Amino acid sequence: MKGEGENMEKSFAKEMPKLGFGLMRLPKEDGKIDVEQTKVMVDMFLEAGMKYFDTAYVYTGSEEATRKALVERYPRDSYFLTSKLNAGSWAAANEAEAKKQFEISLERLGTDYLDFYLLHALSKNNVQFYEDYGIWDYVRKLKEEGKIRHYGFSFHDTPELLEEILEKHPDAEFVQLQLNYADWDAPAVQSRRCYEVCVKHNKPVVVMEPVKGGTLAAPPQVVADHFKAADPDASAASWAIRFAASLENVMVVLSGMSNIEQMADNLSYMRNFRPLNGEEQQVIKNAQDALASIPSIPCTECRYCVKGCPMKIQIPDIFSAVNRNTIYSQFERAKKEYESACRDDHSPAGACIKCGMCEDACPQHLPIRDLLEEAAALFES
Ligand code: SF4
Ligand code: SF4
Repeated sequence: MKGEGENMEKSFAKEMPKLGFGLMRLPKEDGKIDVEQTKVMVDMFLEAGMKYFDTAYVYTGSEEATRKALVERYPRDSYFLTSKLNAGSWAAANEAEAKKQFEISLERLGTDYLDFYLLHALSKNNVQFYEDYGIWDYVRKLKEEGKIRHYGFSFHDTPELLEEILEKHPDAEFVQLQLNYADWDAPAVQSRRCYEVCVKHNKPVVVMEPVKGGTLAAPPQVVADHFKAADPDASAASWAIRFAASLENVMVVLSGMSNIEQMADNLSYMRNFRPLNGEEQQVIKNAQDALASIPSIPCTECRYCVKGCPMKIQIPDIFSAVNRNTIYSQFERAKKEYESACRDDHSPAGACIKCGMCEDACPQHLPIRDLLEEAAALFES
């Protein structure tokens, strides 16, 4: 993280209040977004001096709820509005459908411009769609026309691919990354290395999943003990969010708040944000060490093992579910992950015929057959 101080030159990023309102998990009542509760949350957020609202074309109902709770109630220049275009095959069948998302988002949001617009969730599986459909040129044109103020992309893949994208599209103004203290050096996410690529390219970072989808709000006891000892009154989520917000190149940290209590908790420490001091950084380091000391399967999710498996077992996804259960004691959530790893033509762990092809391919030399047997005992019994 050396030398990053001089890097974040973009004025739009420098002046941004550090907490962003992620609008993906809005409160619900009877299966529908609770707009009245969302209005209260919006009021609290703006009253505290925050400005950044993050929605997306593919967040069901979110853009419409944002119009009702925010756009129709506040002057358009008193906050920043962000949405995203998703060119992945599940969200857009062709170029025209992908591009049309922008106009639909504007209509749903009831606005004629967006402050920030993102190419959504870039990864090796979809990056080519954005190229083939000319989406980069499209967002450049939208900016020239004044329909968006800034464009960037959100990202879910390796630092190497991130580097490639930024080399190819140096005009991208910011990057949204999955970043939290638990995934900082996790081989599957590599938050730290991705963050460092952004620093190198002088791109402000928008942080998503600072609390790892809510997981770090109730971390393992060994981690919670470190936090409690350091500050008995601070929530575990506050440590996670302040960790992300303390990184110099971070423009804003998105918190996907789902109720008034979460909003109140987030604002209690982000209203007058104070970066972690040296002692507090050490507490995070201790928490990271405590997490790393919990025995788990050291799978790096390289997926070399998957290709040759005659049973099409999604080995790394199954190991990730096992690790969720082991590290975070979240059996129900882990089981759901396991079940989704075994969907369609993908066999469950118990279907392994023990041919050993996967173990020959695994650079970590993991005893995959034995580990799958344990996974089957855990999730299939
Ligand atoms: S040992 Fe099992 S998991 Fe490994 S390749 Fe063979 S069938 Fe697939
Ligand atoms: S080859 Fe090994 S490390 Fe790579 S995904 Fe498979 S089990 Fe994990």
